[in-house]
Amino acid sequence: MDNNAEIIWTNCLRIIKDIVEWQHFKTWFEPIQPISVKNNVLVIQVPSQFFFEYLEEHYVNLLAKTLKREMGKEAQLEYRIMVDSGNTQNKPLTMNVPGHGYKTYANNEMDFPLVINNPVKNPFVIPGLKKMQIDPQLNPIYTFDSFIEGDCNRVARRAGKTVAEKPGANSFNPLVIYGGVGLGKTHLAQAIGNEVKRMHTNKVVLYVSSEKFINQFMDHSRNNAINDFIHFYQLIDVLIIDDVQFFNKAERSQDAFFAIFNHLHQSGKQLVLTSDKSPKDLEGVQERLLSRFRWGLSADMQVPDYDTRIEILERKMKNDGLDMPKEVVKYISYNINNNVRELEGALISLLAQSSLNRREIDLDLAKKVLRNFVKSSSKEITIETIQRMVCEYFDVSYDKLLQKTRKREIVQARQITMFLAKSFTKNSLKTIGEHFGGRDHTTVIHSCQTVKDLMDTDTVFRENVLELQQKVQLAAM
Ligand code: ADP
Ligand code: MG
Repeated sequence: MDNNAEIIWTNCLRIIKDIVEWQHFKTWFEPIQPISVKNNVLVIQVPSQFFFEYLEEHYVNLLAKTLKREMGKEAQLEYRIMVDSGNTQNKPLTMNVPGHGYKTYANNEMDFPLVINNPVKNPFVIPGLKKMQIDPQLNPIYTFDSFIEGDCNRVARRAGKTVAEKPGANSFNPLVIYGGVGLGKTHLAQAIGNEVKRMHTNKVVLYVSSEKFINQFMDHSRNNAINDFIHFYQLIDVLIIDDVQFFNKAERSQDAFFAIFNHLHQSGKQLVLTSDKSPKDLEGVQERLLSRFRWGLSADMQVPDYDTRIEILERKMKNDGLDMPKEVVKYISYNINNNVRELEGALISLLAQSSLNRREIDLDLAKKVLRNFVKSSSKEITIETIQRMVCEYFDVSYDKLLQKTRKREIVQARQITMFLAKSFTKNSLKTIGEHFGGRDHTTVIHSCQTVKDLMDTDTVFRENVLELQQKVQLAAM
């Protein structure tokens, strides 16, 4: 094991520990082994593919932020996955997978460091079955019916409908759906797939994210099976690729996609693509692909207006068999105006609060929840959290921090904690004082002032406070 990797990773864990619940920390972070660090790339080993996917799905932002903090802006993460190889020597096979958050496919695609012996089978194909049995990888809840139409998405939705009715035989080929996060691109793309399946049972539909496509491509290229890979995709009647912006610089995957695209398009098969940018603004994607994206229709998705937001909420409630006063629906729709995913998040929080507290949903509760909700995109920090962080930082026990000790280090740690509690929480001076063994508010004021003064005169002290501030800030993200 590399010593530097160990040090960096230990530092990361210290931060992560404060942010992630203990049980999750034990499950998902403790089993990770730091392996090496070179050229800004930290390699960590995880026990399985599933483990890797779970981390990427749930903790990618946290890992990215923490790593950047420890290693600088250029930091990258690579996973080494222990593959259960079943080989006789029982030597774990590993492969490095770039963290999605960093989109580093480009390089890794070219020089993959380790070779996997056992060929990776195309996960969509069940061996021995005919092409009809390719699993379309669709989520049945994403339908046109559940996708509310508004000015924000009318063109895209209607084009999608047409595509689903006459796949391949329409002028929207490819159909490119683009727009910001949480605006319904994946929903609409999947709705097209589900509708095709419903109306044309014989058509072979496949939904795949560009990330998965790239990963599969890499697996196949390691096994000299690129032709198999391309042939497989050429069997599809309606190919839906989500988030094509992740093709960014994945040159060889783009080559494969180009071949697939041409074949499908020439044989009258349908392509549906989504992207977070319009094709003309897509960076790192080959011009020959972009020009083909423009052959069909590019339709954008906008943030829904107030009335559409109300309608979306009401549809969700109806689907889930919920009811709440109209004024609450209006209140949420008015206040959550970024994207649909947040709108749903607010609804879910409200439901959770109502059932946890056995309380009817009313405007008061909505106001309370939304206040938290807006904050909870940045996490709420409590006095206790700050106390724990300071204790750990100075290696002081929690009890000591609260006692009336006059030892200088402890007094300072306590003062810093109060200072941080004042700047990072909304608690009153009185409440903060109470959290320190019942001190009164003048003590808190005095502490804050002392910290400010010391920061001006004592550089070590100042460094400590700044570092702690960063830690708390990070925990609040
Ligand atoms: P994107 O892929 O653009 O990031 P998603 O398709 O994942 O966004 O949409 C986020 C959430 O919002 C999903 O749960 C989706 O069902 C919902 N949603 C988005 N647009 C609509 C709409 N017009 N009607 C109903 N639900 C929607
Ligand atoms: Mg999406």
